[in-house]
Amino acid sequence: MIIIKSAREIELIKKAGDVVCDVFLQVGRLCVPGVTTQALAEKADEVIRSHGAIPTFLNYNGFPGVICISVNDTVVHGIPSEKITLKDGDVVSLDVGATLNGYIADACRTYIVGIAKESTKKLVRVTEESFYEGVKLIKEGVHLGDVSYAIQAHVEKNGFSVIRDFTGHGVGKHLHEDPSIPNYGEKGTGPVLRSGMVLAIEPMVAEGDYRVKILRDGWTTKMKDGKLSSHYENTLVVTKDGYEILTQDKEIK
Ligand code: MG
Repeated sequence: MIIIKSAREIELIKKAGDVVCDVFLQVGRLCVPGVTTQALAEKADEVIRSHGAIPTFLNYNGFPGVICISVNDTVVHGIPSEKITLKDGDVVSLDVGATLNGYIADACRTYIVGIAKESTKKLVRVTEESFYEGVKLIKEGVHLGDVSYAIQAHVEKNGFSVIRDFTGHGVGKHLHEDPSIPNYGEKGTGPVLRSGMVLAIEPMVAEGDYRVKILRDGWTTKMKDGKLSSHYENTLVVTKDGYEILTQDKEIK
């Protein structure tokens, strides 16, 4: 069942979204050669708690990290570690959830570390573009499959592939609510969008083949072919005529 949120609930999710985006502001700029993903996670924890919020992912189904930090061929659910040090040319995604006053926002940004190849920059750019290609279709009455189709089409047109094993999702009081939102699909299929639905839409894109493997830690998800991957996500609310992003990046004050 897809829950329709009230105006009050949407405001609360947006406040949680401001916390998530403050993490991007303060931790994104620390993604430089020589820093460990553990150090990034510690800063993220400090930022989230400074707003009176709780890091949603910590202990979620037993996840051991404050946020997910996924480097290069790790596409999602990377566990922050002292042993993972960023270097020139890496791609690193920060997937952040914050719970504030009982409501959750979830978003992800992928950063390029230092100097990277043109093909790496293209992968990160196309992933972000595919999100906007999908969500520009969103308004009341549209089939979710139209959004999924547009994301997949943009990714594949650029020679990359979309991950099948993980999807976007509804979000609110719970991190994962209905509907599941694949990054591939057919036009005219899936649930019909209604004003007040809050969705976390998150293209996960592979430079090569889309097949993944999960490591023995039960979380870290890598590309089977060892090639790069990228991830971009926002929490948004469907409106009558479009959508509003609730995890909107803001200028540094
Ligand atoms: Mg998500």
